[in-house]
Amino acid sequence: MSLSFDPDRLTLPLGHVIDGTLVPAAGALAMHRPSDGAGYAACPVADAEMVDRAVQSGRRAQAAGWGGAVPRDRTRALHRWADLIEADAPHLAQLEALSSTRPVAQLGPGDIAVTAEQIRFFAEMADKEGGDLAPTRDASLGMTVTEPYGVVGAITPWNFPISMAGWKLGPALAAGNAVVLKPSEMTPFSTIRLALLAVQAGIPAGLVNVVLGDGPVTGNAITGHPDIAKVSFTGSTGAGQAIMANVARTGMKPMTLELGGKSPQIVFADADLDLAAEAIARSIIFNAGQACVAGSRVIADRRIIDALAQKLAARLVPTGVGPTWDGASAYSPIISERQLQRIDGIVSDAVAQGAQVLAGGRRLDRAGWFYAPTLLTDLPPDSPALLQEIFGPVLTLQGFDDEDQAMALSDHPTYGLCAGIFTRDLSRAMRAMRRVRAGTVWINRYGRSRDHILPTGGYGQSGIGKDLGREAYRASRQQKTVLIDI
Ligand code: NAD
Repeated sequence: MSLSFDPDRLTLPLGHVIDGTLVPAAGALAMHRPSDGAGYAACPVADAEMVDRAVQSGRRAQAAGWGGAVPRDRTRALHRWADLIEADAPHLAQLEALSSTRPVAQLGPGDIAVTAEQIRFFAEMADKEGGDLAPTRDASLGMTVTEPYGVVGAITPWNFPISMAGWKLGPALAAGNAVVLKPSEMTPFSTIRLALLAVQAGIPAGLVNVVLGDGPVTGNAITGHPDIAKVSFTGSTGAGQAIMANVARTGMKPMTLELGGKSPQIVFADADLDLAAEAIARSIIFNAGQACVAGSRVIADRRIIDALAQKLAARLVPTGVGPTWDGASAYSPIISERQLQRIDGIVSDAVAQGAQVLAGGRRLDRAGWFYAPTLLTDLPPDSPALLQEIFGPVLTLQGFDDEDQAMALSDHPTYGLCAGIFTRDLSRAMRAMRRVRAGTVWINRYGRSRDHILPTGGYGQSGIGKDLGREAYRASRQQKTVLIDI
């Protein structure tokens, strides 16, 4: 069956989801399709009053029993939701592919299947994770119990809209909270659909409220709302800082922040170079490098750097270039014209500074915002291409003479999200793993698996707290200490 669809014939759910129903709202922010640049819709912007409606709906629904329900009831409802998400995959995939950079063929078996799996993973925690008994003296009994926060405010980016919504909703709901979620103003449709499917699955109306809008108006109203008990954010480090400032100004609350990255991939001389080149090229081609984990800084032993560069250049070829609504497309466009120009500007500045372009280095000559997979080398250490998160399909290549220099180069002044290490020497791999400053380290591979038990999160200014794993569930509940004299 062909997955291709006509983007002009898709009916878009466009409005806030409050109390389980779609609340139509006037469009305010122009939306463009990355695949052909066409304007096609306008995203509404929820003001503080609309956000308050969503928060009060969440409070009522959460207090009506979800938080205190038999935990297995939450598990069952979340399983039904995951089943519906899978059954709705063809429709969800179209909504996602239309506005985002995700090719339609990758969504069903990829983002959507993984989201359903992750929701089931968190569903199963509802009746397994709890408090602890403490080893107090015999004359007393000490324990900790955990409780939901109430209403969690979640804000997600545009690069993997369904997956990011799942990362926020899964643990928060399983842990007994309601959620008010603001998706990116560029990619809201799949999140709206997820919320409507939640109601169909029997998750009480009001537990998943979605408000549309931008950061300064809607986002601020969420993070600053006194009845939002916790904030869970994924996006840029700059927006993370603005959110921290707003939370500090309006009253304190716990925050999970998953932010930007500029992750290194270190290739030692004894590495399997074909395996390394394949993993590195795949990681920067996937979603055209628009991934927080993109391993964009390749750092290689000088003895093998030329061989590696050749193998990389041979693989940095865009295949399956085409609109996201064509079932044969595999290479993603860039999210916006502005972002395309920013990427091109960073590459041109690097070239003006003396960098060599070993692959790509240009916009693709076709409709839409496509940029060629690019490999840059001979960069001065202060080059913006080495320092800034490019969020595009651009790799930089630097050489090292020994392990100490490799580790020094791997260190980024701001970010510490992920790192890749390629070597056949186990001791070297373990030494490098210990020394690298990153929240996740991949050895002889680059990228996540479907082991949802493994948490993800950043060191440094790449974030605070973790998504996925037990950690994400635990961070969705607050801990109360109890001491009883017997
Ligand atoms: P962004 O920070 O511009 O926007 C993310 C979301 O935050 C959007 O919904 C936006 O409307 C909202 N927002 C912006 N300013 C805000 C404010 N002041 N208050 C409240 N909300 C605000 O990021 P983006 O361009 O959508 O996404 C790309 C960024 O996300 C990259 O930096 C990438 O590394 C990061 N990211 C991180 C992870 C991770 O797990 N660490 C995952 C995906 C993306």
